[in-house]
Amino acid sequence: MSAVNTANTATGTARIFNFSAGPACLPDDVLNQARADLWNIDASGIGILEHSHRGKVFDRVIDEAEAACRRIGNISDDYAVLFVQGGATLQNAMVPANLLPVGGHADYINTGAWSKKSIKEAKMYGEVHVSASSEDKNFSYIPAQDTFDLCKDAAYCHFTENNTIFGTEFTTLPDAPSPLVSDASSNIYSRPIDVSKYGLIYAGAQKNLGPAGCALVIVRKDLVGKHRENTPTLMRYDVMMEQGSRPNTPNTFAIYLMGKVFEWIEKEGGLKVMGQRNAEKAAVLYDFLDDSSFYTANVAEGSRSNMNVCFRCANHDLEGDFVNQAEAQGLANLKGHRDAGGMRASLYNAVPKEAVEALVGFMKDFASKNG
Ligand SMILES: *Cc1c(COP(=O)(O)O)cnc(C)c1O
Repeated sequence: MSAVNTANTATGTARIFNFSAGPACLPDDVLNQARADLWNIDASGIGILEHSHRGKVFDRVIDEAEAACRRIGNISDDYAVLFVQGGATLQNAMVPANLLPVGGHADYINTGAWSKKSIKEAKMYGEVHVSASSEDKNFSYIPAQDTFDLCKDAAYCHFTENNTIFGTEFTTLPDAPSPLVSDASSNIYSRPIDVSKYGLIYAGAQKNLGPAGCALVIVRKDLVGKHRENTPTLMRYDVMMEQGSRPNTPNTFAIYLMGKVFEWIEKEGGLKVMGQRNAEKAAVLYDFLDDSSFYTANVAEGSRSNMNVCFRCANHDLEGDFVNQAEAQGLANLKGHRDAGGMRASLYNAVPKEAVEALVGFMKDFASKNG
């Protein structure tokens, strides 16, 4: 068996199925368009990497990226759409620097390594109230809503909507009295979203949206403008908003590519179609895992992520072989994060269903040889 993704032969070189957690698989159509635009975009005689961030071509690129982002997410004018450098991690500091007043406090829900990083950074700015945690069981579940201890007067409530490392995902939003702040890095635009329920959403681009090094930030405008006095210019949402994400030279290529990915999502049928496809892909793998005694899913039903499916061999000693043999057959990047162990298959928007089917085929084969 060879799991070469033959859909990717436009360039004459075949590609393999990539289950990377991030940077991750991008849509074929987008990559092929980017190849052309690297050389010469809009018949300008200049490639996208070489255009001024203040010129007409890039004006159009960023305007179209924002417009497509707004259309697919149905984002109202009450929200700003920003493209910010520094990935999702810088947002861990930008959120409290801009939203947490001196002497104030914020709710944080701790569902894993990413939440912990957010908490650590926020503590530099003020009081963090950990409202719920799943640390008791190594973050293998999403805590139940009725156990959340949320403050009425918090500046905001931060949560990690999809836990990339442990493979858990919120299926309903926390019912917080304060504005919700979501780290949606690994599930942004993977399903329909009601932006009006959030105060702020941020996502590093390299999971579902594009290349690394840029974060999409969707923020309710009335929350902006209350930053701490010493906040660096590049970390101020009001500056980003007023200067159209261009107070300095932005990551022009990331913005270009995110725009293409937004347009691809739209062309494929939008977030409803993404949600259906992602649910189907994840079900193929979870159903197989639930029927198997050779493999186990790490996460119980109800907390499972449709984006990052984490699993183990019942005999953990076989996992190294599993990953190596899968890789040799064109099923790449299945090793789990060291904190979770075992395997992880990331099934972001651009990962085709055939990839999951090829993976399950390999898993059956591996189980019958080693069972
Ligand atoms: C990948 C990831 C991050 C970190 O993103 P960077 O762009 O590397 O800063 C943060 N949160 C979550 C949930 C992630 O999956």
